[in-house]
Amino acid sequence: MATLSEAQTSDPLVAVVSGGASGIGAAAAAALTARGVRVAALDLTPDEVAAPAVGIACDVSDDASVRGAVAEAVERFGRIDIVVNNAGIAAQGTVADNDDEEWRRVLDVNVVGMVRLARAALPYLRRSPAAAIVNTCSVFAAMGVPRRVLYSASKGAVHSLTLAMATDHVREGIRVNAVAPGAVDTPWIQRVLARTADPRAERDALNDRHPLGRLARPEEVGEAIAYLAVDASGTTGTVLAVDGGIHDLRL
Ligand code: NAD
Repeated sequence: MATLSEAQTSDPLVAVVSGGASGIGAAAAAALTARGVRVAALDLTPDEVAAPAVGIACDVSDDASVRGAVAEAVERFGRIDIVVNNAGIAAQGTVADNDDEEWRRVLDVNVVGMVRLARAALPYLRRSPAAAIVNTCSVFAAMGVPRRVLYSASKGAVHSLTLAMATDHVREGIRVNAVAPGAVDTPWIQRVLARTADPRAERDALNDRHPLGRLARPEEVGEAIAYLAVDASGTTGTVLAVDGGIHDLRL
């Protein structure tokens, strides 16, 4: 395995965070920054990335775009130690509702998008003294909820991908973990609630469904991502729930 020079080993770590312009990705970028990590936020909307993270244009459904963004991050920072695979999109409906094109579109972003970014960053991770990948999964990977068949299947794939990648790369010194949030109060959930007949009542009901009595804050998920990426040096192949107890607890 190639190694970094002594100077590079003592330099700050560098992370690429997909979907880093908003919500959980932006919170992960902030939590990594607080740990001294330099962050490139790869997003469709790089102008919306909050400093000191650097926004880089990237569409995770386009392999050339992902490779270009990774090259730009390396050009700017000289290395990549951490990949946060977080960009994702929603889908609603039963198996009767989504056509083949919709299945391809959502799996292409939510699953293959993570593969593309990990694949492009792997040569750099292999040279890192502290390499880690964190994937954003969901409690929906492991619980049945109504009218979320495509989204749930995509996150089930992220769960399996995490374990398989953790196995493949453990002897290369690359840790691979995931976070599994319940509902998180990001622009995503705000958009979903805004489309309902009574957003206030829907929010109250969503809060109540979580044993903690509330949605998670994006910062709480961002902290969990940064913990797995930087602090959890003995942990690989773990899917960490940040779900207010909704998956495992029955009140
Ligand atoms: P968000 O909509 O606030 O942010 C998503 C970001 O991803 C946006 O900045 C968007 O521009 C970017 N993005 C979307 N498609 C992209 C693409 N093709 N290429 C690059 N960037 C792209 O959403 P969020 O709530 O922060 O969700 C982030 C992740 O968390 C997703 O993977 C989602 O499935 C997961 N998640 C969210 C919740 C929740 O309740 N919010 C719960 C569980 C899991």
